[in-house]
Amino acid sequence: MKKHTLAMVGFGGMAGWHYDLIEKLDNLSVAGIWDIKEQRREYARSRQIHVYESQEALLADEQVDLVLVATPNDVHKSIAIEAMKAGKNVISEKPVTLCSADLQEMINASKQYGRFLTVHQNRRWDEDFLTVKRLMEEGTLGEVFRLESRVHGSRGIPGDWRQEAEHGGGMVLDWGVHLLDQALMFFPGVKLKRVYATLTNVTNQLVDDGFTADLGFANGIHMIVEVGTSNFISLPRWYVLGTDGTAMIEDWGENLKIVRACGADEEDVVPVRTAAGLTKTMAPRREDSIFTEERPEEKSDICDFYRNVMAVLEGREESLIKLEEVARVMRLMEAIFESAQKQQVIYFEK
Ligand code: NAD
Repeated sequence: MKKHTLAMVGFGGMAGWHYDLIEKLDNLSVAGIWDIKEQRREYARSRQIHVYESQEALLADEQVDLVLVATPNDVHKSIAIEAMKAGKNVISEKPVTLCSADLQEMINASKQYGRFLTVHQNRRWDEDFLTVKRLMEEGTLGEVFRLESRVHGSRGIPGDWRQEAEHGGGMVLDWGVHLLDQALMFFPGVKLKRVYATLTNVTNQLVDDGFTADLGFANGIHMIVEVGTSNFISLPRWYVLGTDGTAMIEDWGENLKIVRACGADEEDVVPVRTAAGLTKTMAPRREDSIFTEERPEEKSDICDFYRNVMAVLEGREESLIKLEEVARVMRLMEAIFESAQKQQVIYFEK
């Protein structure tokens, strides 16, 4: 008998991923699912997964102590609140909901019904992110002054509801929520002072199909966060600039590359000659004036997300995903939309 029992509302692509992950855990089992689409219910049955008759039947099941909400974004709030009202603890998929006011309602419900509410910010376990975080903590690059985080695809917005505003579609809410959460995790006690953002509508006019956000932190670090879905050539996943060197991770699963000055004399720089002129400023470094290093990415185990949720329920640990962090990301996403709409820098309170 496993200690905790979870049921899923919404059984689409992501819920299937959760199902496979939970199978690896010792103390969590899945009691069943509910989805509004018969085709998805049929699919669950074909995998011998119990299908409830309705959401109400799922919430009435006394053996269930945890509900995963894995529906389109616009219905996370109502389902999570219903679940907490029925006495269940809740994991909501990201983005937790569509705006700060809605999130506050969810937080209020969590307090009112005394239930645990958390959000599946799984990309905190991304190995490339953890590698860059470690690099920043080590100070290998001297003083970091600029950090760039990007994900680029070339197929526009996938699926159906992700292309529609009423379901909480668009790339700020879909991918931005991950990258912005990571961005704010780099500097926990440091205030974000300002943001300037532009959105793209290359393949979709109803919601953003990409964005670039320029973040200014109180510690002077300037960060670019970008999501693109019409990029047939991708820029590096991470690019970090410090006073002593530069680091880059080209793509998921790839090594961290670091190039640092080694203090050798660089007096006799050979200029680069182009058809129309010459430059010493932009000339590449001589090989004997730099160290080049490659490191494999840090290792992580995404099962730790669920292990932490169970430890919170048992009173053994604090939640790794704090609702105030989720709220901060939500305010940042709102500021990104405001900045793009007004074409202005948005300043955060002191
Ligand atoms: P999907 O379209 O594949 O699945 C959503 C399912 O929810 C569908 O089967 C749909 O029929 C069902 N549904 C819709 N409204 C419902 C309702 N009121 N009650 C019950 N079922 C309902 O979408 P997806 O890709 O699985 O995304 C689901 C959620 O997971 C979204 O919030 C998305 O942002 C999130 N997601 C997170 C990650 C991640 O890495 N954390 C990755 C992908 C998706």
